[in-house]
Amino acid sequence: MAQLQHQANHDVLTGLSNRTVLLNRIRQQFERREPTPFAVLFLDVDHFKLINDSWGHGVGDQLLVAIARRLTHYLDHRALVARLGGDEFAVVLDHSRSPAQVLALAEQLVQVLGGMFAIGDREIFAAASVGIAYSSDRHQDPEAILREADIAMYWAKQHPTGAKVAVFDQTMHEQVLNRLALETGLRQAVRGLERNQRQVRALPGENHNHQLRLYYQPIVELKTRAIIGFEALLRWWHPERGEISPELFIPVAEETGLILPLGSWVLQEAIQQLQQWHGHLGQSSLIMSINVSGRQLFQVDFPDQVQQLLEQTQVPPACIKLEITETVLMGASTAITQRLEALRALGVHLSLDDFGTGYSSLSYLHRFPVNTLKIDRLFVMGLVPEQDQLTRTMVALSHGLGLVAIAEGIETEGQLAQLTAMDCEYGQGFLFSKPVNRVEAEALLWGSGVGD
Ligand code: C2E
Ligand code: MG
Ligand code: MG
Repeated sequence: MAQLQHQANHDVLTGLSNRTVLLNRIRQQFERREPTPFAVLFLDVDHFKLINDSWGHGVGDQLLVAIARRLTHYLDHRALVARLGGDEFAVVLDHSRSPAQVLALAEQLVQVLGGMFAIGDREIFAAASVGIAYSSDRHQDPEAILREADIAMYWAKQHPTGAKVAVFDQTMHEQVLNRLALETGLRQAVRGLERNQRQVRALPGENHNHQLRLYYQPIVELKTRAIIGFEALLRWWHPERGEISPELFIPVAEETGLILPLGSWVLQEAIQQLQQWHGHLGQSSLIMSINVSGRQLFQVDFPDQVQQLLEQTQVPPACIKLEITETVLMGASTAITQRLEALRALGVHLSLDDFGTGYSSLSYLHRFPVNTLKIDRLFVMGLVPEQDQLTRTMVALSHGLGLVAIAEGIETEGQLAQLTAMDCEYGQGFLFSKPVNRVEAEALLWGSGVGD
């Protein structure tokens, strides 16, 4: 009997109280009708899905147990800590702490839960975000205050400054709803894509009715301005909100996992488009650069996907460049390194995107088999102090390592002249063309005489 009771009230994995117990405790706190408010903290492990995907669920579970242990060690009897499920935990505090003390406690929890965890013989880096909500007359039921703490946590996690702790306020609610609407919209758009793919196999560029499309930005040889290839860039037209920037929706796609179906579609569409252009133009040196997100590289079968498309289309592998950002390589496990090597073994090229914006550690360039450095536009547009020297160094570095340098975001003749003087071979930017649709891209190709 006692055991049944224990099972009904506790989380099996961690032994912490469960959601039912937590909600009961919140209800009791409300019933005490103290003059000062009490706080509920909502805690969530950052990138837990990524940890699970890369190390396996067993390791993920052990990490959750370790986190639960740190929480119980750290908190005293005035707090009830529960696991809500997945990587979500919550803490109910009593009335005895002032808001300043609650905030300090939340910040300490972030410290306690961040950093290295020894799991078996592995060291895993974890971090957590915390949302705080205070009780008030607004709350009709315990769920409501928990939801507010959840929203605050979500906000803390999204916040560009990397604030790990946030206290709920009403404006957050709106922002979070906005973001959820974006997520729902994207989900629908991706579903539409998949439907489209299943029906009569559409030719590339022919899903005209669709919200998601690929645009292409020319990459040119700086000396001659001849187009050597294109970078495929996603565009989303939302039925109500109009065009939404990839800077906004790609992160949402990454967090929700939608980047997997989306990324597969981009890969297929871009490679098929290149196949068509190779055919039409009667020459096969044109290159297609395709952005690949970290989440895609976590898929064991990613190299197989690429290989299949290469076989289907017979596009020469060396004409495909996969762009991977520096931040992805920063945390890369050996599995990722192997996957990159498998891609190289297929003959496709790898490009380090946004070079200069991460740690830009030279060791990546040795460890990862990249062919190309894409110098981020910050360094081209004069937005960085001493950019001239830095850009020159990056170009020299890529040459020293036998890599190709591509400068991004060239907007003026002055920038072009500077880069050419530095011996940077290739570039892209509004000076040559903004990203354009398939038809416009073809017009540019004919115009530039690539097919002659
Ligand atoms: P990125 O890969 O660094 O792409 C270059 C971005 O710079 C593009 O922004 C392009 O429109 C913009 N750009 C090019 N020339 C200029 C210029 O002269 N001046 C300025 N100010 N901007 C220029 P876009 O299309 O908004 O894409 C933003 C980012 O979204 C991309 O950055 C890439 O990281 C991501 N993205 C876009 N499409 C995909 C995709 O299919 N898959 C993945 N995983 N990410 C994508
Ligand atoms: Mg790119
Ligand atoms: Mg870039």
